[in-house]
Amino acid sequence: MKQKFDVIIIGAGAAGLMSAIEAGKRGRKVLLMDHSKKIGEKIRISGGGRCNFTNINTHPNKFISNNPKFIISALNQYTQNDFIKLIKKHNIKFHEKKLGQLFCDESAQQIIDMLLLECRMADVTLKKGVFVTGIEREDKQYYVAVGPDKYFCDSLIIATGGLSVPKIGASKFGYEVAKKFNLNIIEPFPALVPLTFSEKILFKCKELSGLSLEALISFNKTFFEEGMLFTHRGLSGPSILQISSYWKLGSDIKINLSPKQDVFKFLENKKKMNPKQDINILISEILPKRLAHMICKENGVNGNICELSNKLLKQLSSSINTWVISPTGSEGYRTAEVTLGGVDTDEISSKTMMSLKNPGLFFIGEVVDITGHLGGYNFQWAWSSGFVAGQYA
Ligand SMILES: Cc1cc2nc3c(=O)[nH]c(=O)nc-3n(C[C@H](O)[C@H](O)[C@H](O)COP(=O)(O)OP(=O)(O)OC[C@H]3O[C@@H](n4cnc5c(N)ncnc54)[C@H](O)[C@@H]3O)c2cc1C
Repeated sequence: MKQKFDVIIIGAGAAGLMSAIEAGKRGRKVLLMDHSKKIGEKIRISGGGRCNFTNINTHPNKFISNNPKFIISALNQYTQNDFIKLIKKHNIKFHEKKLGQLFCDESAQQIIDMLLLECRMADVTLKKGVFVTGIEREDKQYYVAVGPDKYFCDSLIIATGGLSVPKIGASKFGYEVAKKFNLNIIEPFPALVPLTFSEKILFKCKELSGLSLEALISFNKTFFEEGMLFTHRGLSGPSILQISSYWKLGSDIKINLSPKQDVFKFLENKKKMNPKQDINILISEILPKRLAHMICKENGVNGNICELSNKLLKQLSSSINTWVISPTGSEGYRTAEVTLGGVDTDEISSKTMMSLKNPGLFFIGEVVDITGHLGGYNFQWAWSSGFVAGQYA
């Protein structure tokens, strides 16, 4: 069987759905395909089931790429306010949780339903559970083979995402298509992912499992001050996830467990004002009790503060304000929220998302070398890049 469409999109995630809607609205005959039977699985599980769909502070400096300027055009063509307008049009109630992060009041499913409704309104043909067996270019057209069937199109959009969470459909398909058409790939890495540690640190993490606190975590000149969580497998929480996108294997990260407090100054003051106070109790004023006891024990300090030398107090303080640790790795794609790297932005027009070498071939969303910080930025990139491709495909 042979069939002709104006636009074929492979991957019906956030970016693919948005591009299908926009191309359909322009009157293009659109086919949207996905190998999964359930559409929008990543949207459904995102933001703890409430989908952090954008961030009101969206700005190019919230994204990582070999070419940080690449994203500017797409973010200008379709802003966070444009997506908010769409959400409001569909009467989806939302709220700002913190730091400009917008979440659905009810459920992420509302976003999926909205996108599917918009697809139907734009006459998009949706095929689920479809396994693409080949893509070829022929006489200025592309065709997508699905077994014996061939679907032809003028514009082919690759929106198959990155490698994170393979159990809900992630595949390396997009990178393979890019390689086939001679596009460079920036090596992919798991990002926004919990970090793992050697036995000594892991022991501490296990002992403290479930405990969370605000921490400032830095790698070189990049730092994030958000929640940090001890787990059975290592460290997690927003600040760890954020720094994981920057951290390089073999390097240290610095953790300030009490970013609002210079612990040595605090202890010096207490030593003068309240010399009989127990050090464990004092540190518990700054840190959760279990962590405070563990740090005191590790530093071999106990008893009244007046009995402790300033040298010992300095050592104790620096293990709180400057805890230097070397991750051994990350939990990998199994739990990573996103994939760093991808199709090199030097290969794509920032205005249209079309391959510079292959007219009619577009790449959008996470498959491209653009990775947002935690906080709704990754979806905004999916909406913006999807919108842009939808205007030109
Ligand atoms: C647990 C979790 C929570 C997250 N929470 C948030 C959040 O709250 N806010 C935020 O901004 N970002 C969040 N993200 C990141 C966000 O989900 C992604 O950045 C975004 O979904 C990327 O959109 P995409 O369309 O490029 O790719 P995807 O949404 O991954 O969609 C790709 C689609 O392509 C399909 N596909 C893959 N291979 C093939 C193939 N060979 N043939 C056909 N179809 C194929 C897949 O089935 C999928 O439907 C989260 C990610 C995870 C894993």
